[in-house]
Amino acid sequence: MCAIVGIFGNEKASRLASLALFSMQHRGQEATGISSSCDGKIHTIKNRGLVSDVFTNEALDYLKGNMAIGHNRYSTAGGDSILDAQPVFAKYKLGEISIVHNGNLINKDEIREELIDKGAIFQTGMDTENLIHLIAKNSKNRLRDRIKEALDKTIGAYCFIIQSRSKQFVIRDRYGIRPLSLGKIKSGGYIVASETCAFDLVDAEYIRDVKPGEMLVFDEKNEEPESIQLYEPEFRPCAFEYVYFARPDSVIDGKNVYRTRENMGRALAKNDKGSTISYDMVVPVPDSGVPAALGYAAESGIPFEYGIIRNHYVGRTFIEPTQEMRNLKVRMKLSPMKSLIAGKSLLVIDDSIVRGTTSKRIVKMLKEAGAKEVHFRVASPEIKFPCFYGIDTPTKEELISHRMTKEEIEKYIEADSLEYLSIEDLTDSIGNDRDYALESFNGDYFVKK
Ligand code: 5GP
Ligand code: MG
Repeated sequence: MCAIVGIFGNEKASRLASLALFSMQHRGQEATGISSSCDGKIHTIKNRGLVSDVFTNEALDYLKGNMAIGHNRYSTAGGDSILDAQPVFAKYKLGEISIVHNGNLINKDEIREELIDKGAIFQTGMDTENLIHLIAKNSKNRLRDRIKEALDKTIGAYCFIIQSRSKQFVIRDRYGIRPLSLGKIKSGGYIVASETCAFDLVDAEYIRDVKPGEMLVFDEKNEEPESIQLYEPEFRPCAFEYVYFARPDSVIDGKNVYRTRENMGRALAKNDKGSTISYDMVVPVPDSGVPAALGYAAESGIPFEYGIIRNHYVGRTFIEPTQEMRNLKVRMKLSPMKSLIAGKSLLVIDDSIVRGTTSKRIVKMLKEAGAKEVHFRVASPEIKFPCFYGIDTPTKEELISHRMTKEEIEKYIEADSLEYLSIEDLTDSIGNDRDYALESFNGDYFVKK
């Protein structure tokens, strides 16, 4: 998971890019970077840390020019080196180039081996670097042709923004797995960003989503971006964007994320109708469980209460190498509202259970704070399979739903009852007008090598 942004045709390009990245900080907190193009040169600043720390006024003054691309990196298991920050910059036969990428290329190892066999050297562990090599080794005269041929070899989930000295190329894979939207900036030029929540801060108007399989070319010579349909679309956007990743105020492929989460909560409440369990209040696990809990409360008529308070100052970059540290992190982040929940039966909602650490800790915390019963509801189906399309889920073995049945998990987290959303209710909640990428829930790895 990452965030990407491209700003084209605005003299404050790098400043607008940094604002867009700031509003997409939730998609990645490990590292951030921006490349701008000015007078035939590309300038890049990237570093570990948050957008507000890395992009000082001095940094942004250095990033001159009327086009810029930017990236927020999501923390993964290894790969926390500064070398793995984006944009990835290179000089090659046609000049200078810089690339940002959101997604995951599933044939990256094969391509890399092939390139290394032919003598290529790599500086990073990122699949994005493959694309640079493929573009550089190509002999076509136009960058767009080189990009197309590099993409022909690239299999996986991707959104790329590629910047040369005078152009930007925006590409979304044929499945449209990761989100990418196009907007018009009121003070001039265009923005392309992973999420529409970035548009508000730069005062841009949403135009449309980048189509699956589409390449947009921004060129100073043209008033409007040129659209080239590179691949036949096979639209399968990622359902987990709606469950967890995206900010609730974003609209992804025409669907308001907040509404879809509210629907997920309503579906959970509908399934509980007629059950013998009774609750005094609906309590969200903040922040990710809030919209679903509001939906549940509205559907069930049981009051919504902030029974758990979140500390917003827990460093997102807090290192969590061991399970012990993860436990501490949950305690640092979430606290029970004792006076509210003591002696009460709670219906607690979170968006997902991944390893089971958070849910177990929350149930324990609420019981210790005096809750009589804790009924846990999860606004997504059981996550049984790792995602290879751009979400950094843990290995199969770490996924609690891979190892345990629902009944076993209920016991393990010591909840009085546990229910998940069904896959059908999930797709109904988002909208049944299209198929979704659901591999974390059903193991359907539809992107084939
Ligand atoms: P668990 O403790 O079960 O491993 O994680 C569940 C919690 O992590 C939920 O509160 C959910 O909001 C959050 N979560 C779900 N997916 C992800 C993810 O990919 N990254 C991070 N950092 N948190 C996640
Ligand atoms: Mg959460």
